[in-house]
Order: sequence, then C-alpha cells, then structure tokens
Amino acid sequence: MTRLIPTYGFIQENAYLHIDENSGSGFLIDPGADAERIIQFADSHHWTIEAVLLTHGHFDHIGALSEIVAHWNIPYYIHRAGALYLSNSRYNLSVYTGQEISIPIVSTDNKPSSGNAMLLDDGDVIRLKANPEFALRLIHTPGHTEDSSVFYNPGEQCAFVGDTIFKDGIGATHFPGGDTATLYRSIQDKVLTLPADTVLYSGHSAPFTVGERSL
Ligand SMILES: [Zn+2]
Repeated sequence: MTRLIPTYGFIQENAYLHIDENSGSGFLIDPGADAERIIQFADSHHWTIEAVLLTHGHFDHIGALSEIVAHWNIPYYIHRAGALYLSNSRYNLSVYTGQEISIPIVSTDNKPSSGNAMLLDDGDVIRLKANPEFALRLIHTPGHTEDSSVFYNPGEQCAFVGDTIFKDGIGATHFPGGDTATLYRSIQDKVLTLPADTVLYSGHSAPFTVGERSL
C-alpha cells in the first residue's frame, strides 16, 4: 500500500509512505518537509517506519530527513553519489532557499543504525525486517542528478522515481550533476523497461504507469 503525503516546503513535493499490509511496517520515501505531519500520519495508522529511502539529495526531498530519522531512530538509504548532495548546499540547492541544508555522512560502515546513511549501489535490495519478502531494488538512474535512483518493488508492482520522470515530463538537467543525454538513457533503459502496469510515484506529479509513458 502506498500513501502520498504532499509536503509544503519552499516548493511542494510528494513524500510517500510505502507500507506492507501484512506487518503494518514499511518505508518513508523523500520527506521533503513537514516532519511532524508525516510522523502523525504514520502514527495515527499505527505503522512502523523502518527506514527512509531517498530518490536523490535535492533539498525538496530531504528537508524533513534529519528530524524524522532522529524521531524514529531509523537509518536512511541513498545511492552512494548522494553523499555529496546531502552535505553540500550548492548540490542540494538549499543555498538558494534561504535555509541551507548540510547533512554530513557521519558513518560509512553501512550499519542500519539510527541516523546512519546507508550508501547503496545499483541493484542493491532493501528488505523490510518485519517481512523480508517486501523489498525494493535500487535502480541507479542518473541524469536529473548524479545520485538519482528509482526504488522498485516488483511485489507491489510500483516504483518511486523521484524527479527522473513525471506524468507529463522529465526531470530538469541544468542543476549540478545533471545531464540530458544521461537522463534520456536512464529513462529509456531502466524505467520504461519495467513491466507496463508498474505504477510510478514521482516527486512532483500524480501517479502514472510505465505503459502510459514514452520518451
Ligand atoms: Zn530534484
């Protein structure tokens, strides 16, 4: 089950709660802002959030990260290239918002402890502790940023695509680390090759399916 939570920071962004209905546990994807409202929403449903997954390190996807991982004592997962975006306000673009974000990677031992960044590579799988069959695979899809990734859950037939692709467009490529040719390749080879009925949840559009899109 997936619930969209619109967040209202410097710009509007979609956070998602991705919950295994058997265990009531799950993941939070891209908490852009509004930590308190996200926490209250999960708590009101008695869901246990085991970790945060980040599709990339732009400010509008990470604004509530520190508060949330501290509140629930959970780790967060991001592609290895995201370390630069999290820690550098020019890369995560928060330098332009008047509220700079810099999240240093405190440990690189990749142990899933509280507040730790878990740096992932293409193909790595994140399993829910409460139900290991509920699992998402990180697919590295650079182009919008160097660290952009899709989290694909074949069992739930859905994927979280961040700003790589939207219902009616594709991600911007003029920010640090962006590259248009790379983005096209990522979308063509790694997103549109998923099964046609896969539901795609993006950072800034309504959900859509792979079958509805072409480049
Ligand atoms: Zn972005």
